[in-house]
Amino acid sequence: MKKPFSIRILSIILSAIFALSPAFPCFAQSEEYNGSSDAKNCPSIIITGYFLPGLYTDYGTERQKEVWAMKKTLPKLLGVAAATVPTLPALLFPGGEKICGKAAADTFNRLFEFSKGSNDYDTRSQKPQEASLTYYNNNGLSFIDKDLSLELGKKQGTDNVFTFAYDWRDNVVDTVETLKIFIDGVIEYTGAEKINLFGLSFGGLVAGAYLSKYGSEGKIKNAVLDVPALGGTEAIGNFFEQPEIQGNTIVNIAGDALGLRVNVKRLAFAKNLPGAENFNKAVKIFAENTADITLSWGSFWDLMKTDDYERMKTAYPDVPNDIIEKSDELHYSIMPNFRSAFAQCRENGTNISIIANYTDYPTLFGGSERGDILIETYLESGAKIAPVNKTLGSNYKQIDKCCGKNHISKDSVIDASCAYLPDSTWFIKDHYHGTYSKDKTNLSLIVDLLLADKTITVFSDSRYPQFIM
Ligand SMILES: [Zn+2]
Repeated sequence: MKKPFSIRILSIILSAIFALSPAFPCFAQSEEYNGSSDAKNCPSIIITGYFLPGLYTDYGTERQKEVWAMKKTLPKLLGVAAATVPTLPALLFPGGEKICGKAAADTFNRLFEFSKGSNDYDTRSQKPQEASLTYYNNNGLSFIDKDLSLELGKKQGTDNVFTFAYDWRDNVVDTVETLKIFIDGVIEYTGAEKINLFGLSFGGLVAGAYLSKYGSEGKIKNAVLDVPALGGTEAIGNFFEQPEIQGNTIVNIAGDALGLRVNVKRLAFAKNLPGAENFNKAVKIFAENTADITLSWGSFWDLMKTDDYERMKTAYPDVPNDIIEKSDELHYSIMPNFRSAFAQCRENGTNISIIANYTDYPTLFGGSERGDILIETYLESGAKIAPVNKTLGSNYKQIDKCCGKNHISKDSVIDASCAYLPDSTWFIKDHYHGTYSKDKTNLSLIVDLLLADKTITVFSDSRYPQFIM
């Protein structure tokens, strides 16, 4: 887009003045500005995943109390599992699923009792001055995404790294508004002109929705969405409608936890183990008996894949209108348009990258789609992914010509040409959801993408091909 000559001259002069100023603000990338804009000087904001941010009452006062703590999240959820274990033998008998499902649901409901239908909980501060890595370090706190924040802190200085604390129960559309205020606040607080944005999982969906709604404001330099729930996940719909616990996936998780790569073929027999069918029924009973709480979270509706969402609306017609209105906006105005919205952001000088994971196994509650244990790969990336135990076939042609280059993985499992960002989506094999910091290549890819001065594509850096196996 050509600007009038006088504006070009003016912007060159202004760029020169800003470049010489001590704050080194980050510039809008324009044709006049030829590449010396420094992403390291754009503060980075980290949006972590679901369940992880803490919730408080009376935050910032002497009576402050943490009602949901991220450090206790996993133990709490494991506690639900542990409470169920003594009831498991019941699954061997007809009707035992009720005992098991109810026991787990009762524990879950007690854990989340604070949550139902209330908006009266605070998150950790959303004031920029209390959300920087420097502030956390000085107050003996650590970021949830610790490894990433440490890496960024080393490269950018801890003053330039921020975390966005959000209430994970809220719907995405409202969370985007809170994020917008936070981004504007960080820009004002640091004096930078743009920020870098990292979103993990649900946080990636929030970041993606922000870019769709407000990307045209041009405040984001680089955005990296890691295993983002851009299309939701099949997990929730399956959980309620047709739970099918995947034995092979569980064996792989267990193997990895023990440091073994158990490369088992699909454990078809797991479905026929004594009690397996009852176990799936118990999961359904659990889902139904915890619905009063989970379905009061707007985010839970937002995380459903759209056709599951429609069926769930019919099955649970009493859910408040406000939740459905906001989730309709996400499902029908935002989710279907990521590809064009991201392309538009790119036109405006924002680099967006997506990192998706894939395995040869279905997601935990899934049926036939490949995913990263929790989210199906096609819903993270928009790419076409061959179902479990299948390939795209030897005569397969990629859906979109794209840049003319190949976007089909060597194992013939992924066609990235139809992804939201065909040239800027990476696929990492055998990586589980949210485990990016456990792998050096994955972590350095994220840091390099976040702090890149130029657009990095899957063809521009030989260390980072589109398919990392
Ligand atoms: Zn291409």
